[in-house]
Amino acid sequence: MTSRGLVIVGAGQAGTRVASTLREAGDDRPVTIIGEEPLPPYDRPGLSKGVLQGRDEPASLTLHDTGWYVDNEIRLLSGDPVVALDLTARSVRLASGAEVPYADLVLATGARSRTLDLTGAGLPGVHTLRSLSDCLALRDAFGPGRRLVVIGAGWIGLEVAAAAVQAGMYVTVLEHADVPLRAALGDRMGTYFAELHRGHGVDLHTGVSITAIEGRDAVTGVRVGDTVVPADLVLVGVGAIPNAELAHEAGLQVDNGILVDDQLRARPDVLAVGDVANAENTLLGARLRVEHVDNANRQGRLAAKVLLGHDARYDWLPFFYTDQYDLGMEYVGRGAATDEVVVRGSQDSGQFIAFWQRQGVVTAAMNVNIWDVNDQLRMTVGRRIDPSRLIDEGIDLAEL
Ligand SMILES: Cc1cc2nc3c(=O)[nH]c(=O)nc-3n(C[C@H](O)[C@H](O)[C@H](O)COP(=O)(O)OP(=O)(O)OC[C@H]3O[C@@H](n4cnc5c(N)ncnc54)[C@H](O)[C@@H]3O)c2cc1C
Repeated sequence: MTSRGLVIVGAGQAGTRVASTLREAGDDRPVTIIGEEPLPPYDRPGLSKGVLQGRDEPASLTLHDTGWYVDNEIRLLSGDPVVALDLTARSVRLASGAEVPYADLVLATGARSRTLDLTGAGLPGVHTLRSLSDCLALRDAFGPGRRLVVIGAGWIGLEVAAAAVQAGMYVTVLEHADVPLRAALGDRMGTYFAELHRGHGVDLHTGVSITAIEGRDAVTGVRVGDTVVPADLVLVGVGAIPNAELAHEAGLQVDNGILVDDQLRARPDVLAVGDVANAENTLLGARLRVEHVDNANRQGRLAAKVLLGHDARYDWLPFFYTDQYDLGMEYVGRGAATDEVVVRGSQDSGQFIAFWQRQGVVTAAMNVNIWDVNDQLRMTVGRRIDPSRLIDEGIDLAEL
């Protein structure tokens, strides 16, 4: 039995950031990070970009080398998932049977890929993408001339489609909604991404429903009504489910993630961070569960500050980015599909800024292939700004 300290369940981006922030602040309490995966924590965005494309080595994703954990006296237990939480005894039980007591507990269990409940969904050749092992399995199945069907035109599905096109594959994307990314970006910008992919040769179908995945010993196609789209491999990219079962079974409140307050607390000695946390955001006056790496890092930092006794709150805007082909973008804020969109610059040039507005107030902004402006865009969110000024390239962003 070790002395009670901080136990972090989930060795991902958010959990690791809690530990590193504490050490950077000079805090020397015992810290244990417990991870299900058999390797040290790593960065996930590269799984659908550089590593999948074969440009980057998997090792480049590693957050800290193993020496860092030793030097910082952070105990990292990999490959041994937590299977139960005892909030009364204040301890966690691992699959190996070990019990680890805690003084404070941080739940950072992230999310897992949603799967399809359809005939054939478990066939060899049907992939999801969440972990490095998923990425390497998908990369191994890539090859020039092979036919990939992507189910779901969300961020991961579209990034995989781009990587596959760049690998010389034939790519079909099947999307249930009429416009890809509609929930995140609305019709105008969703259509922009649709055209980007079609322009690179992707056969993108929207408004379609998959009825089965075909194949006997391995996948051979995806059925859409009477049609079968031939496939050598399939990527199911239909969203993620928060890993909140442990919390639920232990009696914590769970509703689309672990419910936490604006200091990420589920109860005084239990916090949740990252993709699994459904937290009260004081800036937006709303609960948010955000599946982006910036949020994982910032919530990890916030949890550490809260543990250090600071009066810090979840008070920032969501931010994310994507890279597809030669398009790089950053998005800040929280627009809705029904918001008005205005554009500064020309969409056709591939370099522009889009603003979302609701009743005249900027709700979000996105810079596409224009860099070092996102901080200025962040300053516009929440303010009432005349759309004619937003789109006027003669007005400096800093003057808006
Ligand atoms: C392919 C891919 C591409 C992405 N690209 C982008 C991008 O371009 N931009 C962006 O902003 N975001 C991107 N993201 C999202 C971003 O990676 C996540 O928001 C971030 O990883 C969340 O961090 P987390 O620590 O909350 O969860 P995770 O990184 O998922 O880490 C949680 C860890 O907890 C472990 N775990 C779960 N249950 C247990 C248990 N019972 N016991 C022990 N360990 C457990 C999991 O195995 C996992 O290792 C991408 C994600 C993926 C999968």
